[in-house]
Amino acid sequence: MAGRFLSFLCCELAGGLIGWWLGHDYAIRTGLVAGGLGWLAVDSLRATRVLRWLLRGNAEAVPPVAGIWGEIVDRARRVLRASDQELVTARKRLQEFLEAIQESPNGVILLDAQGRIEWCNQTAADQFGLDPKRDLMQQVTNLVRDPSFTACYNDNGSGGSGGSGGREVVIPGPRSVPSRPVRLSLYLHAYGEGRKLLLSRDVTAVEQAEVMRRDFIANVSHEVRTPLTVLTGFVETLQNLPLEAGERARYLDLMARQAQRMQTLVGDLLTLSRLEGSPLPGAGEWTPAAALMVQCEQDGRSLANLLGKALNLRVGPPPALEIAGAPSELLSAMSNLVSNAVRYTPAGGSVDMQWRPLADGGAEFRVCDTGPGIALEHIPRLTERFYRIDRSRSRETGGTGLGLAIVKHVVQRHGGELSIDSTPGKGSIFAIRFPPRRVRAAPSLNGQAPADTGAPPATESLAG
Ligand code: ADP
Repeated sequence: MAGRFLSFLCCELAGGLIGWWLGHDYAIRTGLVAGGLGWLAVDSLRATRVLRWLLRGNAEAVPPVAGIWGEIVDRARRVLRASDQELVTARKRLQEFLEAIQESPNGVILLDAQGRIEWCNQTAADQFGLDPKRDLMQQVTNLVRDPSFTACYNDNGSGGSGGSGGREVVIPGPRSVPSRPVRLSLYLHAYGEGRKLLLSRDVTAVEQAEVMRRDFIANVSHEVRTPLTVLTGFVETLQNLPLEAGERARYLDLMARQAQRMQTLVGDLLTLSRLEGSPLPGAGEWTPAAALMVQCEQDGRSLANLLGKALNLRVGPPPALEIAGAPSELLSAMSNLVSNAVRYTPAGGSVDMQWRPLADGGAEFRVCDTGPGIALEHIPRLTERFYRIDRSRSRETGGTGLGLAIVKHVVQRHGGELSIDSTPGKGSIFAIRFPPRRVRAAPSLNGQAPADTGAPPATESLAG
């Protein structure tokens, strides 16, 4: 401030001196006035420059002004720089925030007070079939056309600003078709000045799992109820009627069969739950495929005896290879296939089981039968739990409807494949294919170490 006053005095002094030098009284006064006006003009010029610079708002292009104006410019520049920095930081944070929402597995749509889309993430765009750029500022109810969503939107809109107002509505996705249904769960939350946040989640898998869970419980209850009803009936008969020893023994035999049926069902259910809950079988435990086949053959023969069926049960040459995985699971899958073939093939038919090498170095266990065969439309559904083509036939032979579901599970856990090939009236071929990494040559009789995983020679030796 002192500098400003000093510069004014200097201008006045200079004007006065010039007037004195000219030698007239009025000239001194005029010189003083001219000095003051000159100072004012220079000062105004500086003020204008500073004002223009402030209007431009560019903290870097500083005008060359000295004195108090220079100081003002310097302070204003610092303030501008700080606010520029804050702006950059705020923009960066907003960008990071939007990127985080972009990565969300749930859809997020921001709506303005008029219900227009201000922003949406890619998940929401995919779920609703939106274009994140083209559909900006479009009315959401024009793009998400579902009566329950519109009703929810209108309800929420009348709730006014603020408040959460989150109510779930589940609508079919725009790309939903009967063969591939898509279900979206939507939540609408009000915030700010009449704005809304629309959250969406794909609940197709959750709903399907729920349906499967309900079906599964209904199936299990049904499967248990039937033998239980029979058992209860026999118990009542035994309690209330005086029966002869022979009749009594027959009833007890029928009861034992029903109890056995329930036991088999519980056993299969436990096997499935163990398969679902246990870690994947490692590739470090090797089991000779020949031993597995011998066990399957024994199981098949005793089942045929139990069913009183004369079958031609043939077994291929013992395979000189080993399979990596859980032996109990492998045996369960293989003997399920053999048991099905024995149960469904009529007396006099034949059941063949054998190991075959595969060109890729893997191996295949296949069971061929001359049973009734399976119509093409049933094949994709055979591994569903409790799916049976002929319910009474399955039950008569002690089936639970879970055998092939167990096989499929085991095969998947071992990285393999189950293939079913069948011709109605002729027979079926069920095959389990193991990948090369789960197959190796069995140690030779002279005690040599086995070749490495799935080496082609291992399977080639089987070819003969
Ligand atoms: P189940 O205990 O009823 O045999 P599975 O899951 O093992 O249950 O098999 C499902 C259905 O597939 C069976 O009910 C049967 O109709 C059919 N099936 C399975 N194996 C054979 C086969 N070898 N020949 C004919 N049908 C078969």
